Amino acid sequence: MNFTETDEQKALRDAVAALGKRYGHEYVAPRARSHEPLTELWAEAGKSGFVGVNLPEQYGGGGAGMYELAIVGEELNAAGCGLLMLVVSPAICGTIITRFGTDEQKQRWLPGLASGETIMAFGITEPDAGSNSHNITTTARRDGGDWVLSGRKVFVSGVDVAEAVLIVGRTEDAKTGRLKPALFTLPTDTPGFEYKAIDMDVPMPDKQFMLYLDDVRLPKDALIGDEDAALAQLFAGLNPERIMASAGSVGMGRYALDKAVGYAREREVWGKPIGTHQGLSHPLAKAKVELELAKLMMQKAASLYDGGDDMGAGEAANMAKYSAAEASIACVDQAVQTLGGNGLAHEYGIGSLLIGARVARIAPVSREMILNFVAQFSLGLPKSY
Ligand SMILES: Cc1cc2nc3c(=O)[nH]c(=O)nc-3n(C[C@H](O)[C@H](O)[C@H](O)COP(=O)(O)OP(=O)(O)OC[C@H]3O[C@@H](n4cnc5c(N)ncnc54)[C@H](O)[C@@H]3O)c2cc1C
Repeated sequence: MNFTETDEQKALRDAVAALGKRYGHEYVAPRARSHEPLTELWAEAGKSGFVGVNLPEQYGGGGAGMYELAIVGEELNAAGCGLLMLVVSPAICGTIITRFGTDEQKQRWLPGLASGETIMAFGITEPDAGSNSHNITTTARRDGGDWVLSGRKVFVSGVDVAEAVLIVGRTEDAKTGRLKPALFTLPTDTPGFEYKAIDMDVPMPDKQFMLYLDDVRLPKDALIGDEDAALAQLFAGLNPERIMASAGSVGMGRYALDKAVGYAREREVWGKPIGTHQGLSHPLAKAKVELELAKLMMQKAASLYDGGDDMGAGEAANMAKYSAAEASIACVDQAVQTLGGNGLAHEYGIGSLLIGARVARIAPVSREMILNFVAQFSLGLPKSY
């Protein structure tokens, strides 16, 4: 076990942090309020090789792993300018296509995903199924050589900036019962496909969408991997998603904690800095401890994933996602408290993170579903639902 990052990893961390610093929260804040995508930052991150750092070199990626993509996600968030679509486009979609796509599919999608010029969204959540993915009803039927898809998806992020959506459906043969996911690349301009922005209360640049698939006709090669590849193929993408969600939370927690500590050192109301009072310093210290623990679990999950241990990575990624979300929420909450009234003033850029940090307790998988997983699979307790 090695807790020291390689020189390459350190250099990547420094380079991403420098990019983030140039943009920062001042760049994000107005776009978060008006739900405008971070186009310039995404393009520059793509050109710098950060967006596709985990994808194969053969297709223009960096040839590194989830550990490195997590560095990118963490450092941008730590600079106050996280890119939500990193969680989806290179982490979920890029990984699934790399691992299960044909040579033609890899050639079609990976160079764009690696450079960032192509963004791919990911649609699994459905209005009626919710957390119970076994109940999804988006169905693909064969018609000649084509697939015809029908269904509804909800809360899908970034469809307006995406060239395609990776849709999790099921084939007609596996229409009911335990989910046998079939994954399809659906270009966003396909006839029969429509999407509508959901009016969200979350101050973040990326919008969420309701998707309507009505007899959407796709060619045979829109199917990625086996139509009956069971859950392993899906989780090859969902574990990276959880690792990247953890990275986002860890970075956001660092951002909030830095702001809080800087303020607590400077602000004086009783003739000495407010950080002198243990009523403020202890919660900040506790938040720091919990954030570091979450980061360690995120790094464990990424290392296991990159080492090919999907099972081990699954458990660690769930635990990392849980602890990073909780730690980040605590950091942001304590940062707001530390700044007093300024914690909710737009100028200081912390108040708007209250909801942003809170998203991670719900998405991409809720706190309760992670606890269900741990209770059932890590502790061997009976399933309650
Ligand atoms: C900002 C944002 C971005 C998102 N982006 C995407 C995206 O890009 N693609 C996509 O497919 N989805 C996306 N989602 C959807 C997200 O993954 C879901 O909201 C999440 O999985 C929870 O599903 P739900 O909202 O249907 O809640 P529900 O499943 O209805 O759950 C409601 C509540 O009940 C609890 N609950 C449900 N079942 C149980 C149980 N068995 N035991 C205990 N508690 C339970 C849940 O934990 C939750 O607290 C996004 C959501 C948000 C908020």
